[in-house]
Order: sequence, then structure tokens, then C-alpha cells
Amino acid sequence: MAEAVAVLKRRPDALPWAGGTLILTSGGAGDAPVSVLDLGRIPELRAVSRSDRYLELGACVRLATIQALPRSLSLQPLRDAIGLVGTATVRNMATLGGNIASRDAFMTCFPSLACMDATVELRDASGSRWSGIHALVGGDGRPAFPAATLLTRIRVPTAPWDAFALHRLGEPTKGDAFASTFAAAARFEKETISELRLIASGRTLARDRALELSLIGKRLPLTVKDVEEAREAAGERAIEAGFPARLAERFGAYVMSFLASVQEGGR
Ligand SMILES: Cc1cc2nc3c(=O)[nH]c(=O)nc-3n(C[C@H](O)[C@H](O)[C@H](O)COP(=O)(O)OP(=O)(O)OC[C@H]3O[C@@H](n4cnc5c(N)ncnc54)[C@H](O)[C@@H]3O)c2cc1C
Repeated sequence: MAEAVAVLKRRPDALPWAGGTLILTSGGAGDAPVSVLDLGRIPELRAVSRSDRYLELGACVRLATIQALPRSLSLQPLRDAIGLVGTATVRNMATLGGNIASRDAFMTCFPSLACMDATVELRDASGSRWSGIHALVGGDGRPAFPAATLLTRIRVPTAPWDAFALHRLGEPTKGDAFASTFAAAARFEKETISELRLIASGRTLARDRALELSLIGKRLPLTVKDVEEAREAAGERAIEAGFPARLAERFGAYVMSFLASVQEGGR
């Protein structure tokens, strides 16, 4: 690991290569020759460990390995996202770190992990630090993975969610290799919404915290007016975040259908 970090310090332009499935598909390496830093044989990046409250995954843990973890772990949002990625062959090569560290767009696992409050460990020449996964979202809503930095571990809280939804937001749009994603999660307490996450991700990430906060604490079932207002607010937020109108409208529709589906959740 120390050697890999030293290489990145010397060659900040070097492209970390995990499974290579995204780099090869999206042309992430571009046309010009690049130096590649192979992460494949760093044992620390393949480690999986767990505590009572979370699962810790090395950045180079394969998606197929995560799918094969015991079902007793509350990882459904992440499992659902992984199930959408490529084929079994792709998931045997693809890593979770490569999914999170994409520079061009937020890939399918990102919004699930954001819903689950995952944290990430980043390492560069100055040392390592943990931060919430949202630190990888820039002020403009675009991916902001820092240069000359390695993603080393991902910590995923395993507290179960009472409701969760994950959908593709339509087909890939022009210039995007993969479709955008909708992810939502909620917890209930005494017939009210106690926690809520509503996220659309693609080239940018749209999350309307004001909308989430306005619904937290509301008694279930929500009123038709609440649900309709949430649909409109989510659609507007997605437009602000730069989503095409068709996808923004679909985000609003998914928010509406998620909120409608949780109406009985608190009972
Ligand atoms: C047929 C097919 C279908 C696919 N469908 C989907 C899909 O539906 N959804 C989806 O999300 N993806 C999809 N993918 C893309 C890809 O398989 C996944 O995104 C995968 O998780 C990427 O992981 P990787 O290890 O292959 O990343 P790589 O290709 O090795 O790397 C991806 C990016 O992350 C950087 N990187 C990787 N690891 C690190 C690290 N530890 N630290 C810092 N930077 C790092 C690389 O430099 C690169 O910029 C598909 C691919 C194929 C071939």
C-alpha cells in the first residue's frame, strides 16, 4: 500500500486500475497513453471485516464477493445496486471501490451507499482520513474524487431500513455509458417517518435535504397533498442538478411512488 501511495505521489497522473471494467467500458483512460497503477495485488484492499454496527470492505473487494456475503447482514440496498451492474462475469472482476471512485458519473452503487450513510477511507501522500461518502460529491453536484488519492476502505452501517427502493432512471442518455439511478430509504418510528433519503444520481447527484426534512416527523399515512408536493419538489431539484427533463420527471414519479408505498410503514 505504501508503495502504491508513493507511486501516486511521484506520478499524480497515474490511473488506479482495480477491475478495469469501467475504465475499459467508458473510455476513462482516453486516447492518450496513460500510466496505470495496478491495485490488484494489494492484500489490504481485499479485506472484509465486520463489527456489530457496520461492515468494512476493502476498496478492491469484488462485487460478486459482496453478493456472496451472508444474507443475515442488512445490506439489501447495496445488494440491489450490485445486482444491476453488468453480468456475473463483470461482477466477478468489478470492485466496489471502482464503482465509487468513478470520475465522470456516479455509478449504480453510489446512491445506495449514500442512502446507507457509508463512510470512505481515502489515502494520499499526507496520510489517511475517513469521511462521509457525500464528501465525494462536489459543490456543483458532480463527482469530486480527489486527485492522486486512493480509496482504501468503505464502511457500510448494517442497521436495517424499514423501506428501500432502487430503480434505473431510464436508459443511458447521450454521452453516458450507463443509466442514472434512483435510490430511496426510510425508517419509521411510532407511525412517523424518522429517517428519509431520496437520491437521483447520474452525471450529477440530486438530493433535496429540505424536502427530506419537511417529511421527517410527519405522521403516516402522508396526505395526497404531501406526496404530490414531494413529487414536484424532487423533479425541480433534479432539474437544478442538471438532469434532463425526462429523467427529472421520472425522479419525481419514483419519489411519489416510494412515499405512496410507505404509507402503511409505521403500522
Ligand atoms: C457490460 C458492463 C455493464 C456494466 N454495467 C454497469 C452498471 O449498470 N452500473 C455501474 O455502476 N457500472 C456498470 N459497469 C461498469 C463497472 O463494471 C462498474 O462500475 C465497476 O464497479 C467498476 O469497478 P472496477 O473495479 O472495474 O473499476 P475500474 O474500471 O478499475 O476503475 C474505475 C474508476 O475508479 C478509479 N479507481 C478504481 N479503484 C480505485 C481506488 N481504490 N482508489 C482510487 N481510484 C480508484 C479508476 O482510476 C477509474 O477512474 C458495467 C461494465 C460492463 C463491462
